[in-house]
Amino acid sequence: MAEEDGKTLEELCVERGMRMTGQRRVIAGVLQDAYDHPDVEELYRRAVAIDGNISISTVYRTVKLFEDLGIIEKHEFRDGRARYEPIPDEHHDHLIDVKSGDVIEFRNARIEALQEEIARELGYRIVDHRLELYAVPLDEKEKDGG
Ligand SMILES: [Zn+2]
Repeated sequence: MAEEDGKTLEELCVERGMRMTGQRRVIAGVLQDAYDHPDVEELYRRAVAIDGNISISTVYRTVKLFEDLGIIEKHEFRDGRARYEPIPDEHHDHLIDVKSGDVIEFRNARIEALQEEIARELGYRIVDHRLELYAVPLDEKEKDGG
């Protein structure tokens, strides 16, 4: 999920000429291991547990550098927090649980095909897209009744 051609974020940074300090390595590692699309504050909590000298401003700066290198993706899921994930190997879309803030990844071939079809009908070829579903969990009655 976290790799591009099987490479780690750290390897991608080096490949793109970024000087990797110990702190940048820690932050890259935390992002690499995260599957929950953390925001900067959450990244900071995880990074500082590994290296107590890391400051939140370092995390902000480093995340911005990674973003500028095009190796992580930024999401704004309407809760006012910017959240990050390594650019995935395979495209996926997101369902956001508006109660818990959980982010669930999914991929649906029918949706992908339908989007291509819509664009084609409008005279376009899709180069990128984002689909975000904002949802609340079904209650028990809804689960039974459908
Ligand atoms: Zn994702």
